[in-house]
Amino acid sequence: MNLKELDLKHIWHPCTQMKDHEFLPLLTVKNAKGVYLYDYNNKAYIDCISSWWVNLFGHCNEYINSKITEQLSKLEHVLLAGCSHEGVIRLSARLCKILEKHKLNKCFYADNGSSSIEIALKMAFHYFANKNEKRKKFLALSNSYHGETVAALSVGDVKLYKKHYEDLLLDVLLTPVAQGEDFSKELEFLEKLLEKEGENICAFILEPLIQCAGNMHMYSANFIDEAIKLCRKYGILIIFDEVAVGFGRTNTMFALEQSKAKPDLLCLSKGITGGYLPLSVLICTDEIYNAFYDDYEKNKAFLHSHSYTGNALACAAANAVLDIFENDNVLENNKILSKFIKNEFESLKEFDFLGNFRQCGMVYAFDIIKNKRQRAGLFVYEKALEKGLLLRPLANTIYFMPPFVIKNDEVSYVVSSLREIFSTNQL
Ligand SMILES: *Cc1c(COP(=O)(O)O)cnc(C)c1O
Repeated sequence: MNLKELDLKHIWHPCTQMKDHEFLPLLTVKNAKGVYLYDYNNKAYIDCISSWWVNLFGHCNEYINSKITEQLSKLEHVLLAGCSHEGVIRLSARLCKILEKHKLNKCFYADNGSSSIEIALKMAFHYFANKNEKRKKFLALSNSYHGETVAALSVGDVKLYKKHYEDLLLDVLLTPVAQGEDFSKELEFLEKLLEKEGENICAFILEPLIQCAGNMHMYSANFIDEAIKLCRKYGILIIFDEVAVGFGRTNTMFALEQSKAKPDLLCLSKGITGGYLPLSVLICTDEIYNAFYDDYEKNKAFLHSHSYTGNALACAAANAVLDIFENDNVLENNKILSKFIKNEFESLKEFDFLGNFRQCGMVYAFDIIKNKRQRAGLFVYEKALEKGLLLRPLANTIYFMPPFVIKNDEVSYVVSSLREIFSTNQL
Protein backbone atom coordinates (compact mmCIF):
# COMPACT_ATOMS: atom_id res chain seq x y z
CA MET A 1 0.00 0.00 0.00
CA ASN A 2 1.40 3.40 -0.81
CA LEU A 3 1.79 6.13 1.79
CA LYS A 4 -1.21 8.20 0.67
CA GLU A 5 -3.55 5.24 0.82
CA LEU A 6 -2.23 4.24 4.22
CA ASP A 7 -2.61 7.82 5.40
CA LEU A 8 -6.24 8.05 4.36
CA LYS A 9 -6.91 4.67 5.91
CA HIS A 10 -5.82 5.79 9.36
CA ILE A 11 -5.47 9.56 9.64
CA TRP A 12 -8.25 12.04 10.27
CA HIS A 13 -6.70 15.34 9.19
CA PRO A 14 -7.35 18.64 10.99
CA CYS A 15 -9.68 21.27 9.59
CA THR A 16 -10.66 19.01 6.70
CA GLN A 17 -13.81 17.45 5.27
CA MET A 18 -12.07 14.14 4.67
CA LYS A 19 -14.30 13.36 1.68
CA ASP A 20 -12.57 16.21 -0.15
CA HIS A 21 -9.55 13.93 -0.45
CA GLU A 22 -11.49 11.84 -2.95
CA PHE A 23 -10.44 14.53 -5.43
CA LEU A 24 -8.04 16.75 -3.50
CA PRO A 25 -4.41 15.62 -3.59
CA LEU A 26 -2.71 14.94 -0.29
CA LEU A 27 0.80 16.35 -0.23
CA THR A 28 3.09 13.84 1.48
CA VAL A 29 6.31 15.61 2.33
CA LYS A 30 9.51 13.61 2.28
CA ASN A 31 11.87 16.34 3.38
CA ALA A 32 12.21 20.11 3.47
CA LYS A 33 14.86 22.79 3.32
CA GLY A 34 14.47 26.55 3.67
CA VAL A 35 11.18 27.62 2.08
CA TYR A 36 10.91 24.38 0.08
CA LEU A 37 8.95 21.22 0.84
CA TYR A 38 9.74 18.15 -1.29
CA ASP A 39 7.39 15.31 -2.14
CA TYR A 40 8.33 11.71 -2.97
CA ASN A 41 8.93 12.63 -6.61
CA ASN A 42 11.33 15.32 -5.39
CA LYS A 43 8.98 17.98 -6.65
CA ALA A 44 9.53 21.24 -4.73
CA TYR A 45 6.77 23.37 -3.21
CA ILE A 46 7.31 26.83 -1.76
CA ASP A 47 5.77 26.94 1.71
CA CYS A 48 3.86 30.22 1.19
CA ILE A 49 2.06 29.96 4.52
CA SER A 50 4.93 29.01 6.83
CA SER A 51 3.20 25.68 7.56
CA TRP A 52 0.22 27.33 9.24
CA TRP A 53 2.15 30.44 10.28
CA VAL A 54 4.67 28.71 12.53
CA ASN A 55 7.85 28.63 10.47
CA LEU A 56 10.04 31.74 10.65
CA PHE A 57 13.51 30.80 9.46
CA GLY A 58 12.91 28.01 7.01
CA HIS A 59 12.64 24.24 7.34
CA CYS A 60 15.64 22.30 8.62
CA ASN A 61 17.37 25.51 9.59
CA GLU A 62 20.95 24.60 10.38
CA TYR A 63 21.29 26.79 13.43
CA ILE A 64 18.03 25.69 15.06
CA ASN A 65 18.81 22.06 14.19
CA SER A 66 22.18 22.35 15.93
CA LYS A 67 20.66 23.88 19.06
CA ILE A 68 18.00 21.18 19.34
CA THR A 69 20.61 18.47 18.76
CA GLU A 70 22.82 20.00 21.44
CA GLN A 71 19.89 20.05 23.87
CA LEU A 72 18.92 16.50 22.97
CA SER A 73 22.17 15.14 24.36
CA LYS A 74 21.63 17.01 27.67
CA LEU A 75 17.96 16.93 28.61
CA GLU A 76 14.86 16.16 26.55
CA HIS A 77 12.16 16.99 29.06
CA VAL A 78 11.46 17.38 32.72
CA LEU A 79 8.24 18.40 34.43
CA LEU A 80 8.03 22.09 35.22
CA ALA A 81 6.31 21.73 38.59
CA GLY A 82 8.95 21.72 41.31
CA CYS A 83 11.69 21.40 38.65
CA SER A 84 13.22 23.79 36.17
CA HIS A 85 15.97 23.83 33.56
CA GLU A 86 18.35 26.31 32.05
CA GLY A 87 16.57 26.58 28.70
CA VAL A 88 13.22 27.63 30.10
CA ILE A 89 14.87 30.00 32.56
CA ARG A 90 16.91 31.71 29.85
CA LEU A 91 13.93 31.87 27.52
CA SER A 92 11.73 33.47 30.17
CA ALA A 93 14.35 36.02 31.14
CA ARG A 94 14.90 36.94 27.48
CA LEU A 95 11.20 37.30 26.68
CA CYS A 96 10.63 39.40 29.80
CA LYS A 97 13.62 41.57 28.92
CA ILE A 98 12.12 42.30 25.49
CA LEU A 99 8.77 43.06 27.15
CA GLU A 100 10.21 44.88 30.15
CA LYS A 101 8.92 48.32 29.30
CA HIS A 102 5.43 46.92 28.89
CA LYS A 103 5.59 45.45 32.40
CA LEU A 104 5.02 41.88 31.21
CA ASN A 105 7.19 39.92 33.57
CA LYS A 106 5.89 36.42 34.45
CA CYS A 107 5.80 33.47 32.04
CA PHE A 108 3.31 30.62 32.28
CA TYR A 109 3.99 27.87 29.73
CA ALA A 110 1.84 25.41 27.80
CA ASP A 111 2.25 23.58 24.51
CA ASN A 112 -0.12 25.13 21.97
CA GLY A 113 -1.84 28.41 21.22
CA SER A 114 -5.33 27.40 22.32
CA SER A 115 -4.01 26.30 25.71
CA SER A 116 -2.38 29.68 26.21
CA ILE A 117 -5.78 31.26 25.53
CA GLU A 118 -7.47 28.92 28.02
CA ILE A 119 -4.85 29.92 30.56
CA ALA A 120 -5.37 33.63 29.90
CA LEU A 121 -9.15 33.33 30.29
CA LYS A 122 -8.97 31.20 33.45
CA MET A 123 -6.31 33.45 34.92
CA ALA A 124 -8.33 36.62 34.25
CA PHE A 125 -11.43 35.08 35.80
CA HIS A 126 -9.49 33.76 38.78
CA TYR A 127 -7.72 37.09 39.27
CA PHE A 128 -11.02 38.77 40.06
CA ALA A 129 -12.18 35.87 42.23
CA ASN A 130 -8.96 36.18 44.25
CA LYS A 131 -9.76 39.85 44.73
CA ASN A 132 -13.27 38.96 45.88
CA GLU A 133 -14.83 40.48 42.81
CA LYS A 134 -17.38 38.50 40.89
CA ARG A 135 -16.94 38.87 37.14
CA LYS A 136 -17.63 36.06 34.72
CA LYS A 137 -18.01 37.39 31.20
CA PHE A 138 -15.49 37.87 28.43
CA LEU A 139 -15.47 40.46 25.70
CA ALA A 140 -14.11 39.72 22.23
CA LEU A 141 -14.06 41.32 18.79
CA SER A 142 -16.31 40.29 15.95
CA ASN A 143 -14.50 38.14 13.36
CA SER A 144 -11.98 37.01 15.98
CA TYR A 145 -10.23 33.65 16.20
CA HIS A 146 -8.48 32.36 19.31
CA GLY A 147 -8.24 28.62 18.78
CA GLU A 148 -10.59 25.67 18.95
CA THR A 149 -10.70 24.24 22.44
CA VAL A 150 -14.03 25.04 24.07
CA ALA A 151 -13.21 28.27 25.89
CA ALA A 152 -10.94 29.52 23.08
CA LEU A 153 -13.70 28.78 20.58
CA SER A 154 -16.15 30.69 22.77
CA VAL A 155 -14.21 33.92 22.46
CA GLY A 156 -13.85 33.45 18.70
CA ASP A 157 -16.35 34.57 16.09
CA VAL A 158 -15.52 32.56 12.98
CA LYS A 159 -18.86 30.84 12.34
CA LEU A 160 -17.34 27.99 10.34
CA TYR A 161 -15.56 26.65 13.42
CA LYS A 162 -18.18 27.64 15.94
CA LYS A 163 -21.61 26.87 14.56
CA HIS A 164 -21.90 23.23 15.68
CA TYR A 165 -20.87 23.95 19.24
CA GLU A 166 -22.91 27.03 20.16
CA ASP A 167 -24.79 25.17 22.91
CA LEU A 168 -21.53 24.14 24.53
CA LEU A 169 -19.83 27.49 24.64
CA LEU A 170 -19.28 30.18 27.27
CA ASP A 171 -21.36 33.28 27.29
CA VAL A 172 -19.23 35.84 25.46
CA LEU A 173 -19.93 39.44 24.49
CA LEU A 174 -18.86 40.55 21.04
CA THR A 175 -18.12 44.07 19.93
CA PRO A 176 -17.50 45.01 16.29
CA VAL A 177 -13.95 45.24 14.99
CA ALA A 178 -12.90 48.40 13.11
CA GLN A 179 -13.11 48.34 9.33
CA GLY A 180 -11.17 51.45 8.37
CA GLU A 181 -9.81 54.55 10.07
CA ASP A 182 -13.30 55.80 10.95
CA PHE A 183 -14.42 53.53 13.74
CA SER A 184 -16.66 55.91 15.68
CA LYS A 185 -19.68 53.63 15.25
CA GLU A 186 -17.79 50.62 16.56
CA LEU A 187 -16.63 52.57 19.60
CA GLU A 188 -20.15 53.82 20.23
CA PHE A 189 -21.38 50.23 20.25
CA LEU A 190 -18.66 49.25 22.70
CA GLU A 191 -19.38 52.22 24.95
CA LYS A 192 -23.06 51.25 25.22
CA LEU A 193 -22.21 47.60 25.82
CA LEU A 194 -19.81 48.56 28.59
CA GLU A 195 -22.36 50.82 30.29
CA LYS A 196 -24.54 47.75 30.69
CA GLU A 197 -22.01 44.95 31.17
CA GLY A 198 -18.66 46.61 32.00
CA GLU A 199 -18.60 45.50 35.62
CA ASN A 200 -19.35 41.87 34.73
CA ILE A 201 -16.47 41.54 32.29
CA CYS A 202 -13.15 39.97 33.36
CA ALA A 203 -11.22 40.53 30.18
CA PHE A 204 -11.23 41.90 26.66
CA ILE A 205 -9.36 39.58 24.30
CA LEU A 206 -8.12 40.60 20.85
CA GLU A 207 -5.62 39.74 18.14
CA PRO A 208 -3.76 43.01 17.65
CA LEU A 209 -3.48 44.38 14.07
CA ILE A 210 -4.43 41.23 12.12
CA GLN A 211 -7.31 38.82 12.64
CA CYS A 212 -5.48 36.07 10.84
CA ALA A 213 -8.01 33.22 10.73
CA GLY A 214 -10.69 35.91 10.31
CA ASN A 215 -9.67 36.09 6.65
CA MET A 216 -6.60 38.22 7.37
CA HIS A 217 -8.61 41.25 8.44
CA MET A 218 -6.14 44.06 9.16
CA TYR A 219 -7.28 46.87 11.41
CA SER A 220 -6.10 50.06 13.00
CA ALA A 221 -3.87 50.30 16.07
CA ASN A 222 -5.77 53.52 16.90
CA PHE A 223 -8.93 51.49 17.29
CA ILE A 224 -7.14 49.18 19.71
CA ASP A 225 -6.05 52.20 21.78
CA GLU A 226 -9.52 53.72 21.92
CA ALA A 227 -11.33 50.45 22.65
CA ILE A 228 -8.90 49.61 25.46
CA LYS A 229 -9.28 53.10 26.91
CA LEU A 230 -13.00 52.45 27.26
CA CYS A 231 -12.44 49.02 28.83
CA ARG A 232 -9.94 50.37 31.35
CA LYS A 233 -12.66 52.62 32.84
CA TYR A 234 -14.34 49.45 34.06
CA GLY A 235 -11.19 47.75 35.33
CA ILE A 236 -11.35 45.12 32.58
CA LEU A 237 -8.15 43.16 31.96
CA ILE A 238 -6.71 43.14 28.45
CA ILE A 239 -5.50 39.97 26.72
CA PHE A 240 -3.48 40.23 23.51
CA ASP A 241 -3.52 37.06 21.48
CA GLU A 242 -0.25 37.28 19.56
CA VAL A 243 -0.18 33.55 18.86
CA ALA A 244 -0.06 34.32 15.13
CA VAL A 245 1.26 37.89 14.92
CA GLY A 246 4.05 37.65 17.52
CA PHE A 247 7.72 37.17 16.65
CA GLY A 248 8.10 39.68 13.87
CA ARG A 249 5.08 38.97 11.64
CA THR A 250 3.92 42.58 11.73
CA ASN A 251 7.47 43.96 11.30
CA THR A 252 7.88 44.65 15.02
CA MET A 253 8.92 41.89 17.40
CA PHE A 254 5.44 41.98 18.92
CA ALA A 255 2.37 43.72 17.53
CA LEU A 256 1.81 45.40 20.89
CA GLU A 257 4.70 47.74 20.09
CA GLN A 258 2.44 49.40 17.51
CA SER A 259 -0.38 50.40 19.85
CA LYS A 260 -0.15 52.82 22.75
CA ALA A 261 -2.35 50.63 24.91
CA LYS A 262 -0.70 47.52 26.32
CA PRO A 263 -2.11 44.21 27.56
CA ASP A 264 -2.06 42.69 31.04
CA LEU A 265 -1.78 39.23 29.53
CA LEU A 266 -0.01 38.25 26.32
CA CYS A 267 -0.35 34.89 24.55
CA LEU A 268 2.47 33.65 22.31
CA SER A 269 2.95 30.44 20.37
CA LYS A 270 3.30 29.49 16.65
CA GLY A 271 6.55 31.28 15.67
CA ILE A 272 8.04 30.91 19.14
CA THR A 273 10.01 27.77 18.20
CA GLY A 274 10.44 28.76 14.55
CA GLY A 275 7.92 26.07 13.62
CA TYR A 276 9.87 23.22 15.16
CA LEU A 277 8.13 22.08 18.31
CA PRO A 278 4.90 22.83 20.15
CA LEU A 279 5.26 25.51 22.80
CA SER A 280 3.20 28.41 24.05
CA VAL A 281 3.51 30.94 26.79
CA LEU A 282 1.25 33.36 28.58
CA ILE A 283 3.16 36.36 29.87
CA CYS A 284 1.49 38.60 32.45
CA THR A 285 2.21 41.53 34.71
CA ASP A 286 3.42 41.26 38.29
CA GLU A 287 0.08 42.77 39.29
CA ILE A 288 -1.74 39.65 38.03
CA TYR A 289 0.86 37.27 39.45
CA ASN A 290 0.69 38.89 42.87
CA ALA A 291 -3.06 38.34 43.10
CA PHE A 292 -2.33 34.59 43.24
CA TYR A 293 0.65 34.78 45.58
CA ASP A 294 -0.27 33.93 49.15
CA ASP A 295 -0.15 31.27 51.84
CA TYR A 296 -1.33 27.90 50.53
CA GLU A 297 -4.29 27.87 52.92
CA LYS A 298 -5.68 31.04 51.33
CA ASN A 299 -6.48 28.87 48.31
CA LYS A 300 -5.43 31.38 45.68
CA ALA A 301 -2.91 29.39 43.59
CA PHE A 302 -3.33 28.92 39.85
CA LEU A 303 -3.51 25.12 39.70
CA HIS A 304 -3.32 24.73 35.95
CA SER A 305 -0.88 22.38 34.21
CA HIS A 306 -0.02 20.51 31.02
CA SER A 307 2.28 17.48 30.84
CA TYR A 308 4.65 19.01 28.30
CA THR A 309 4.75 22.49 29.84
CA GLY A 310 8.08 24.19 29.14
CA ASN A 311 9.54 21.24 27.22
CA ALA A 312 13.33 21.48 27.08
CA LEU A 313 13.71 20.72 23.36
CA ALA A 314 11.04 23.30 22.50
CA CYS A 315 12.77 25.87 24.73
CA ALA A 316 16.08 25.17 22.97
CA ALA A 317 14.38 25.89 19.65
CA ALA A 318 12.81 29.06 21.08
CA ASN A 319 16.16 30.29 22.41
CA ALA A 320 17.68 29.62 18.99
CA VAL A 321 14.90 31.68 17.40
CA LEU A 322 15.70 34.60 19.72
CA ASP A 323 19.41 34.22 18.87
CA ILE A 324 18.57 34.56 15.17
CA PHE A 325 16.48 37.67 15.83
CA GLU A 326 19.41 39.15 17.79
CA ASN A 327 22.15 38.21 15.35
CA ASP A 328 20.65 38.47 11.87
CA ASN A 329 18.96 41.88 11.80
CA VAL A 330 15.71 40.09 10.97
CA LEU A 331 13.24 42.91 11.59
CA GLU A 332 15.21 45.43 9.53
CA ASN A 333 15.62 42.97 6.65
CA ASN A 334 11.92 42.13 6.76
CA LYS A 335 11.03 45.79 6.31
CA ILE A 336 12.84 45.75 2.98
CA LEU A 337 11.49 42.32 2.05
CA SER A 338 7.90 43.28 2.86
CA LYS A 339 8.18 46.28 0.51
CA PHE A 340 9.35 43.98 -2.24
CA ILE A 341 6.44 41.60 -1.53
CA LYS A 342 4.00 44.51 -1.75
CA ASN A 343 5.35 45.70 -5.10
CA GLU A 344 5.24 42.22 -6.59
CA PHE A 345 1.74 41.34 -5.39
CA GLU A 346 0.28 44.69 -6.42
CA SER A 347 0.83 43.71 -10.03
CA LEU A 348 -2.08 41.29 -9.53
CA LYS A 349 -4.42 44.27 -9.22
CA GLU A 350 -4.83 44.08 -13.00
CA PHE A 351 -7.36 41.24 -12.46
CA ASP A 352 -10.75 42.81 -11.85
CA PHE A 353 -12.05 39.75 -10.00
CA LEU A 354 -9.44 40.34 -7.28
CA GLY A 355 -9.69 43.06 -4.64
CA ASN A 356 -8.99 44.26 -1.08
CA PHE A 357 -5.23 44.07 -1.51
CA ARG A 358 -3.69 44.62 1.91
CA GLN A 359 -0.53 44.13 3.87
CA CYS A 360 0.69 44.25 7.43
CA GLY A 361 4.38 43.49 7.78
CA MET A 362 5.14 40.01 6.54
CA VAL A 363 1.50 39.18 5.77
CA TYR A 364 0.06 40.01 2.37
CA ALA A 365 -3.55 39.22 1.41
CA PHE A 366 -6.22 39.82 -1.20
CA ASP A 367 -9.69 38.47 -1.92
CA ILE A 368 -11.39 36.85 -4.88
CA ILE A 369 -14.29 39.29 -5.10
CA LYS A 370 -16.03 37.91 -8.20
CA ASN A 371 -16.11 34.21 -8.96
CA LYS A 372 -18.18 31.88 -11.08
CA ARG A 373 -17.21 28.65 -9.39
CA GLN A 374 -17.95 27.64 -5.83
CA ARG A 375 -14.95 27.22 -3.52
CA ALA A 376 -12.78 29.38 -5.76
CA GLY A 377 -10.13 29.51 -3.02
CA LEU A 378 -9.87 25.73 -3.08
CA PHE A 379 -9.47 25.85 -6.86
CA VAL A 380 -6.52 28.23 -6.43
CA TYR A 381 -5.08 25.87 -3.82
CA GLU A 382 -5.13 22.94 -6.26
CA LYS A 383 -3.73 24.91 -9.18
CA ALA A 384 -1.01 26.38 -6.97
CA LEU A 385 0.05 22.90 -5.85
CA GLU A 386 0.49 21.92 -9.49
CA LYS A 387 2.82 24.89 -9.90
CA GLY A 388 4.80 24.06 -6.79
CA LEU A 389 3.27 26.44 -4.27
CA LEU A 390 1.70 25.49 -0.98
CA LEU A 391 -1.03 28.06 -0.33
CA ARG A 392 -4.05 27.58 1.85
CA PRO A 393 -6.67 30.20 1.07
CA LEU A 394 -9.15 31.05 3.83
CA ALA A 395 -12.42 30.76 1.88
CA ASN A 396 -11.86 33.31 -0.91
CA THR A 397 -9.00 35.12 0.78
CA ILE A 398 -5.60 34.32 -0.64
CA TYR A 399 -2.71 35.22 1.59
CA PHE A 400 1.04 35.05 1.55
CA MET A 401 2.74 34.59 4.91
CA PRO A 402 6.11 33.05 4.09
CA PRO A 403 9.11 32.13 6.23
CA PHE A 404 11.26 35.24 6.68
CA VAL A 405 14.12 33.61 4.77
CA ILE A 406 12.28 33.70 1.45
CA LYS A 407 14.29 35.36 -1.34
CA ASN A 408 13.15 37.99 -3.83
CA ASP A 409 13.23 35.63 -6.81
CA GLU A 410 11.12 33.12 -4.89
CA VAL A 411 8.55 35.83 -4.13
CA SER A 412 8.53 36.73 -7.83
CA TYR A 413 8.00 33.08 -8.74
CA VAL A 414 4.97 32.90 -6.42
CA VAL A 415 3.45 35.99 -7.99
CA SER A 416 4.10 34.93 -11.58
CA SER A 417 2.60 31.50 -10.86
CA LEU A 418 -0.48 33.15 -9.39
CA ARG A 419 -0.69 35.39 -12.44
CA GLU A 420 -0.71 32.31 -14.68
CA ILE A 421 -3.49 30.76 -12.61
CA PHE A 422 -5.60 33.93 -12.73
CA SER A 423 -4.94 34.44 -16.45
CA THR A 424 -6.77 31.20 -17.26
CA ASN A 425 -9.88 33.01 -16.10
CA GLN A 426 -11.33 29.88 -14.50
CA LEU A 427 -12.31 31.36 -11.16
C1 LIG B 1 -3.47 29.48 15.72
C2 LIG B 1 -4.06 30.45 16.65
C3 LIG B 1 -4.50 30.07 17.93
C4 LIG B 1 -4.51 28.64 18.38
O1 LIG B 1 -3.26 28.06 18.42
P1 LIG B 1 -3.13 26.46 18.29
O2 LIG B 1 -1.69 26.21 18.54
O3 LIG B 1 -3.55 26.14 16.89
O4 LIG B 1 -4.02 25.87 19.31
C5 LIG B 1 -4.96 31.06 18.77
N1 LIG B 1 -5.00 32.34 18.38
C6 LIG B 1 -4.59 32.73 17.17
C7 LIG B 1 -4.64 34.18 16.83
C8 LIG B 1 -4.14 31.81 16.25
O5 LIG B 1 -3.78 32.19 15.02
